[in-house]
Amino acid sequence: MAYRASSHRYELMRPGEIESERQHAPIAYIPWGSLEWHGLHNAIGLDALKAHAIALDAADITGGVVLPPIFAGYGTMKPFKGFKHTIEVSAETIKALLRELLEQLKDEGFKVLVLIMGHYGKQHVDALMSICEEFQSRHCDIVVLAFPEYQVAVEDGIRGDHAGAYETSLMMHYYPETVDLTLLPKGRKLSIDEDGVGGEDPRVQASAQFGKETAQLIVRRIAERVNETLKSIRTA
Ligand SMILES: [Zn+2]
Repeated sequence: MAYRASSHRYELMRPGEIESERQHAPIAYIPWGSLEWHGLHNAIGLDALKAHAIALDAADITGGVVLPPIFAGYGTMKPFKGFKHTIEVSAETIKALLRELLEQLKDEGFKVLVLIMGHYGKQHVDALMSICEEFQSRHCDIVVLAFPEYQVAVEDGIRGDHAGAYETSLMMHYYPETVDLTLLPKGRKLSIDEDGVGGEDPRVQASAQFGKETAQLIVRRIAERVNETLKSIRTA
């Protein structure tokens, strides 16, 4: 299972391990997603699982700790079209949770806080970004980096989607046992309204290989950004 043991998983680390990791690289990753319909072929927790796996890979390069994935999405497919098994969380709740997490991580001595948003509806992103900006304006010795995971690789031609070839491929790479493309309807076009699938057709375009290449690119871009930020703090 790709939801694997990593020396950077905060919840699996002992106090001494957290402390030495923080002294070596005071970076804390916050992988944020949702419990949301992602087509008949994908797991409900896709967004947070994806963000978590990417954060763990990035931490392998940069060092630091990775908080457990947060499954709390606002503006999900449920209010949008009533897609089932989706757990919609309010803007107030996600904002309060993020505010407290940032404050606590600051209190714990982390200097670069990296919010990786696997769920990236505009309402959700705007809500979380408003908290990051508010926090950043109060703490100038800490840097908050916050972005939907695909955004770091837009210049490389990467585009996010919803349960389309992009997200499905990432899951085929990180959590292959959770994807079953045979469950998708055949003989007609998929749509966001009817199937909850948007982007390029996963039945045709999704593959573990594309997922692997995409993940590696995103991880590399995130690591570059985080390492540059850490360096700028240390030389400031
Ligand atoms: Zn998604």
